[in-house]
Amino acid sequence: MSLPAPQEVADRPLVGLLAVQGAVERHRDMLEAVGARVREIRQPAHLDGLDGLVLPGGESTTMALLLDRCGIRQPLQDALADGLPTFGTCAGMILLAREILDGRGDQWSFETVDVSVRRNGYGRQSASFETSLVVDGLDGGPFPGVFIRAPLIEAHGPAVRPLATLDGVPVLCEQGPFLLAAFHPELSGDLRLHARWVASLDRPTERLVVPEPTGAE
Ligand code: GLN
Repeated sequence: MSLPAPQEVADRPLVGLLAVQGAVERHRDMLEAVGARVREIRQPAHLDGLDGLVLPGGESTTMALLLDRCGIRQPLQDALADGLPTFGTCAGMILLAREILDGRGDQWSFETVDVSVRRNGYGRQSASFETSLVVDGLDGGPFPGVFIRAPLIEAHGPAVRPLATLDGVPVLCEQGPFLLAAFHPELSGDLRLHARWVASLDRPTERLVVPEPTGAE
């Protein structure tokens, strides 16, 4: 196997993967499989120079607590305010929500995306399930949605665009640079959502390429 040339490595988007708690490994595998470089995020300095960020599933209450403890709550809030493209899955979706219903009393969120989510809205662990989702614009047929104590979007604002629904409720949606999944795409064995998201990230190196002149003037 030959190693990629240094230039090719630098061109691959650098994705931060929040790694204070939760389902990190499978996200890492998928992100790398679709060509991203992955940096696990555990402290503020890790946020420098990212092209995108993944907030994984896990336990949103614990994650919120640890983010405060590690001192990355505010730096992350700033990165989100700057529009860092971010993919929040399950607990990661809860962290990005404007409002959390059935949260723990002291639970906070970044309030980045205009959704109101109910924690464990699809039932508790015993109610975990898998179902086929039709995803807007995704080639290759339905996507396997793995739901584990998933948050339920009870309301969303006009800026939020549903990309897949289940019983009429959005389970995958976007608002500007933010993508939210109520389910676990990293557990599906299907790389398409990760591939599409990574392909959508801005690549500063590409923006520096000067276009060829289109004709003699
Ligand atoms: N129910 C969990 C929470 O409230 C989320 C579950 C998950 O990420 N699979 O954080």
